[in-house]
Amino acid sequence: MDRMPGKLLIVVAHGDDETLGAGATTAKLTEAGVQVSLLVLTNDDGSRAAMGQRVTNRVSAIERAAKILGIERVGIREFGDNRLDAESQLELNRIVEREVRDFRPDTIFTTSMSDLSMDHQLVSRAARIAGRPGRSGVREIRCFETRSATDCGEASGLPTFAPNCWEVVSASHLERKIEALREYGQEVENWPSPRSERGVRALAEYRGSQITEEFAEAFELLRTVR
Ligand SMILES: [Zn+2]
Repeated sequence: MDRMPGKLLIVVAHGDDETLGAGATTAKLTEAGVQVSLLVLTNDDGSRAAMGQRVTNRVSAIERAAKILGIERVGIREFGDNRLDAESQLELNRIVEREVRDFRPDTIFTTSMSDLSMDHQLVSRAARIAGRPGRSGVREIRCFETRSATDCGEASGLPTFAPNCWEVVSASHLERKIEALREYGQEVENWPSPRSERGVRALAEYRGSQITEEFAEAFELLRTVR
């Protein structure tokens, strides 16, 4: 049986994680009338400074990408990129718990604990804690794959991303994902980067072909209550 979320909360560390991870699924769900809230914990791409590159604020790119995907509610916190480990896990938990209390989602999507990025792991843990059974009202939690961070997952020393849930998407949902991704400008790289438009298409085709569909996005389903 198809289970459609009533309200979906997407929790990520960086603007573009939501698009790379579940952009096509989000376009599909919002088209079907699902209300979506996006919570992004950092607001810049500060890790570029270490590479001698210019740091840019991502707030307007996040808002434009969200609009393309049909997301109406966007919350952006002001932590620095790659700096979430300087915050306490408790503080991150509180931020996500507050959004769960205010928005009342029944479903949460977040990044995978298998990702190499420490930011992704910390945010994933906070989302799981905020959505634990009990008062949260959250009935399903899924983790998505974020190209490059998930691709290097084996370097984290943790079990690699192992999907057990596939969301079939249409060509138009995939196009909206790519259109949203373009809003992130320099974050989109050239083929054969996993973060290229072709790389995003290739993954959607690969995940689709695993279930003999044209396009899909894959998830780790952590918990579902029916
Ligand atoms: Zn990220």
